[in-house]
Amino acid sequence: MMWHQRADVVVIGTGVAGLVAALAAHRRGRRVVVLSKASETATFYAQGGIAVVLPDTDDSVDTHVADTLAAGAGLCDPEAVRSIVAGGYRAVTELVDDGARFDEAASGQWDLTREGGHSRRRIIHSGGDATGAEVQRALDRAAAQLDIRRAHIALELLHDGEAVAGVLVLNDDGLGVVHAPSVILATGGLGNLYAATTNPAGSTGDGVALAMWAGLAISDIEFIQFHPTMLFDGHADGRRPLITEAVRGEGAVLVDGQGNSVTAGVHPMGDLAPRDVVAGAIDARMAATGAPCVYLDARGIAHFKRRFPTVTAACRAAGIDPTREPIPVVPGAHYSCGGVVTDVYGRTELAGLFAAGEVARTGMHGANRLASNSLLQGLVVGGRAGQAAADHAVDAGPSHAVAAEPSARRALPRAELQRAMTRDASVVRDGDGLRRLAKELDASTPRILNSRTDFEDVALTTVAAAVAASALARTESRGCHHRSDFPDTDPAQARSLVPAVACC
Ligand SMILES: Cc1cc2nc3c(=O)[nH]c(=O)nc-3n(C[C@H](O)[C@H](O)[C@H](O)COP(=O)(O)OP(=O)(O)OC[C@H]3O[C@@H](n4cnc5c(N)ncnc54)[C@H](O)[C@@H]3O)c2cc1C
Repeated sequence: MMWHQRADVVVIGTGVAGLVAALAAHRRGRRVVVLSKASETATFYAQGGIAVVLPDTDDSVDTHVADTLAAGAGLCDPEAVRSIVAGGYRAVTELVDDGARFDEAASGQWDLTREGGHSRRRIIHSGGDATGAEVQRALDRAAAQLDIRRAHIALELLHDGEAVAGVLVLNDDGLGVVHAPSVILATGGLGNLYAATTNPAGSTGDGVALAMWAGLAISDIEFIQFHPTMLFDGHADGRRPLITEAVRGEGAVLVDGQGNSVTAGVHPMGDLAPRDVVAGAIDARMAATGAPCVYLDARGIAHFKRRFPTVTAACRAAGIDPTREPIPVVPGAHYSCGGVVTDVYGRTELAGLFAAGEVARTGMHGANRLASNSLLQGLVVGGRAGQAAADHAVDAGPSHAVAAEPSARRALPRAELQRAMTRDASVVRDGDGLRRLAKELDASTPRILNSRTDFEDVALTTVAAAVAASALARTESRGCHHRSDFPDTDPAQARSLVPAVACC
C-alpha cells in the first residue's frame, strides 16, 4: 500500500540549492520536507570557490556581469545575470551567518583567487581548494533541525495540469506520496550521461527528466561543460577527481608531452581562457598527437600542498607528486549550463513548482558557465526559490489529491548510454554521430521503476534524448557546443532552444 504525507514545501535535493531553499522556506514558518536519494552531492566536491563581487574592491557588478556574458557566448539573459550577480554578496553573507568560513589573506579580509574567464580576482574559497566541503558542512549543520529524508527517490511530479500537487517517492517502505502545494527541484546536474565525469554517481539529470515528464520547458541542454582538467590516472569511467581551475589561476601551465603550450595562439587569455576554449584546445592537441592526455605543470606554484590540499591528495592517491612532476589531465563532463526554465526566483511555468541550482536554466550561464558562478547561482536562486515557494504555499493552500502511479519509460542501461553519449555527444559533435545517438536512444526498451538504478537509467535516457535533439538542432558552434560539421558561430542562431523530444 502507498504511504501518504503532507508538507507545505517539498525540496528535492540536499546540495547548496536544496538546503538554502529549505532553510529559507523553514525560516518563513513553513512545514518543509527535504528528500534526497543519496548522501553525496556535487556541492561537496566543489573546489575552486564562489565568484562574488565584494564591496570596497576594484571589482564591480558591471565587470562580473560583463565576464559572465562574454563566457555565455550570446545566450545569457543579461537581466538574470545582473540580478544573480548583484545578489551574491548578500547570499554569501547569509551563508557566513549559517557558519561557513572562507580563507583570509589578512584578518577580516577574504583571500581572492582568479579563474578562467574572470577579469578580476573575485573567487572566495575555503580550506584552500575544499570550498564545497565547507559550504556543505555549514548548510548540513544549519539544516540539522529540518525534516530531511535520505534514501528517498523522487520518481514523478504530481500535478493537475495547472499546479503542482506533490511528489511520488520511492523509499525502503515502497512507493509513497508527499502532498504539497510547493515543490522545489534542486536535483543537481547530469554528468553521468558520460563515462568520465567529475560529478558524483547521483548526478543523473533527474530534475530535468521529472520536469520534461510533467510537460515543462527545458532549454540550453546541449551546452554541457567539459572541465578542461580532470585528473587522468589511466581510468576512464566514473567520478574522476578534478584539478581546479584555480591551479591555473595561480600560474600552472598546460603543456603536451613535448612540453609545448596547449593554448598558445588559441585565445588571448591563454590557459585562463573560458573552459570551452581550453577543453577544445586540449581535445584538439590529444587528437593531433594521439596522446591520451596533456599535462598541467604546477611545479612553479609556491606552497602548492597548503594552497591545494584536495588536489594534492587526489594526485598522491594516483601516485603523482604535483610539486615534482606535471599532472596528467583530460577534459571531463562537468556541468550542465541548461536545464529547467525558470526566472531568477526559481519559478517554472507550472504554478508551485520551482527549480534552483544546476538543474535550473535561469539564463545566467547561456552557452557556457563562467567558473565559480554555479555555487553563486545555487545560493542566490536557492534562497529566493525557498522564499517564493513558502509564500506560494500560503496563497495556494493545501494541495488537491491527484493520481499517483509510476509510469514505465524507456531506458538504456547506464554503461551503454554512457558509451553512446561519450562517442557521439562529447566535447566535439557532428550530425552523423548525433543522428546515430538519437536512433540508439529511440530503440531503448520500457522499464518498470522498481529501484534507483531503474529510475536513473530512465532519467538519463530521457535527458540524453533531449541533449541529442538540441545538439542536432543547433547547427553551429557556440559556447561549449562544438560541431565539427558546423565549426563557426551563426549569429542567426543566437537564441535558446527548447527541444521537442518524443521519447518521454
Ligand atoms: C568536482 C566539482 C567541482 C566543482 N567546483 C565548483 C566551484 O569551485 N565553484 C562552483 O561554483 N561550482 C563548482 N562546481 C559545480 C557546483 O558544485 C554544482 O553545480 C553545485 O554544487 C550543484 O548544486 P546543487 O544544489 O544544484 O546540486 P547537488 O549539490 O548536486 O545536489 C543534488 C541533490 O539532489 C539529490 N537528488 C537528485 N536527484 C534526486 C531524486 N530523484 N530524488 C531525490 N533526491 C535527488 C541528490 O541526492 C543531492 O542531494 C563543481 C562541481 C564538481 C562536480
